Amino acid sequence: VTTFQGKQVALFGLGGSGLATAQALVAGGAKVTAWDDNPDSVAKAIAEGVGTGDLRQADWSAFSAFVLSPGVPLTHPKPHWTVDLAHAAGVEIIGDVELFVRERRAHAPDCAFIAITGTNGKSTTTALIAHILKTSGRDTQLGGNIGTAVLTLDPPRSGRFYVVECSSYQIDLAPTINPSAGILLNLTPDHLDRHGTMQHYADIKERLVAASEVAVVGVDDSFSSLIADRVERAGTKVVRISRHHVLADGLYAEGSRIVRALSGATSLFADLDGIQTLRGGHNAQNAAAAIAACLAVGVSPADIVKGLSSFPGLKHRMQPVGRKGQVVFVNDSKATNADAAAPALSSYERIYWIAGGVPKEGGITTLSSFFPKIAKAYLIGEAAPAFAATLGEAVPFEISGTLEHAVAHAAADASKDEAGPSAVMLSPACASFDQYKNFEVRGDAFVGHVAAIDGVTMLI
Ligand code: ADP
Repeated sequence: VTTFQGKQVALFGLGGSGLATAQALVAGGAKVTAWDDNPDSVAKAIAEGVGTGDLRQADWSAFSAFVLSPGVPLTHPKPHWTVDLAHAAGVEIIGDVELFVRERRAHAPDCAFIAITGTNGKSTTTALIAHILKTSGRDTQLGGNIGTAVLTLDPPRSGRFYVVECSSYQIDLAPTINPSAGILLNLTPDHLDRHGTMQHYADIKERLVAASEVAVVGVDDSFSSLIADRVERAGTKVVRISRHHVLADGLYAEGSRIVRALSGATSLFADLDGIQTLRGGHNAQNAAAAIAACLAVGVSPADIVKGLSSFPGLKHRMQPVGRKGQVVFVNDSKATNADAAAPALSSYERIYWIAGGVPKEGGITTLSSFFPKIAKAYLIGEAAPAFAATLGEAVPFEISGTLEHAVAHAAADASKDEAGPSAVMLSPACASFDQYKNFEVRGDAFVGHVAAIDGVTMLI
């Protein structure tokens, strides 16, 4: 990034995207003073040739900007000490997305930039949009909160398409963000530890769509719906999406069908039925948002429909990984609490459910409306006794102990099931730390156990 060529920039937070950001600044000719509370991260930055220095001792009046990692508190529960120092010296505080935005404005303001935010479904929608763009032959860059730091992507150039997942922290640190299409999927209480109040959290997300050329807003929750109205009144073009309501204008779901409405006239845009990776009402919301954004940047309906139908899905999120006869094996390891497991449980009709690990407060009591669809539960890890107590008489279960046993037993039971198609699903509603390093390792273990089943056809 050349925006700070020849200027001094302070940077804090060298884990995650921080180091890549520091390197991009250095490559663009900035003089970086980077720091982190973790000495290992500082040592790594030094080894990579990034200038470091304790920002407590630094002369803040010399800095043109302070680049903060999105993981570091800007406001809640209280500002990080570097934030106080930056404020005291009157130095602007920005993040890597802001650096990207300035780079785009300086070098290729016409290149398409789609930004995605919301409480749930960000990564799925981001990946889906990137997939549609790629399969339509466009030069596509995918990054942000989903994994690849934006400044490690290929630089902005006319004709290039950027698809960037933005957490509210990243938006908070991107004061001049101006996407070609900005998506707000939904807003439910989350991350309030960091943002204080729901209103503040909503305000941050609103800024993203308010600053977009086209704002795509899911209107199924009251916060987002009000935001859509407000942003529209202020003059921004708004495309509303809904999974629950018929709209006069916008894109809405009727079961698996996505309907496009223009001044009350409706037409079927796409049918998600049969697209295994886009099952469920939540994915209808994600797909509608992706369609709206792709239309906004000029992708043809035919190309969008083609991209939807070949979407490979995201790992560990309701991902169909194998099939044996009428049984599909689904990896939903990302579901680390009951709320996150709900979409998967709602998306299949007959479920052999593998659950457990380190339980969260409340356990699985909120999932009781799905219990009638569960043919049997296979409980693993520390949560097994508590989950068994919740299931009680309502659902047949066994305490499998390990994931390996759970998969083997569930596969055997499901194969014998003559009631019709079923899913053997790991949607644990728990953290993984009692048995696995993280949810990714747990999901990979599940896939390994599925692959070992006699007669299974792997889908990945
Ligand atoms: P995020 O990136 O916002 O965390 P993901 O796309 O990674 O979201 O999806 C994570 C989980 O959230 C999914 O496994 C699913 O359970 C749930 N989910 C996905 N999309 C939605 C949605 N539109 N509304 C509600 N929940 C969703």
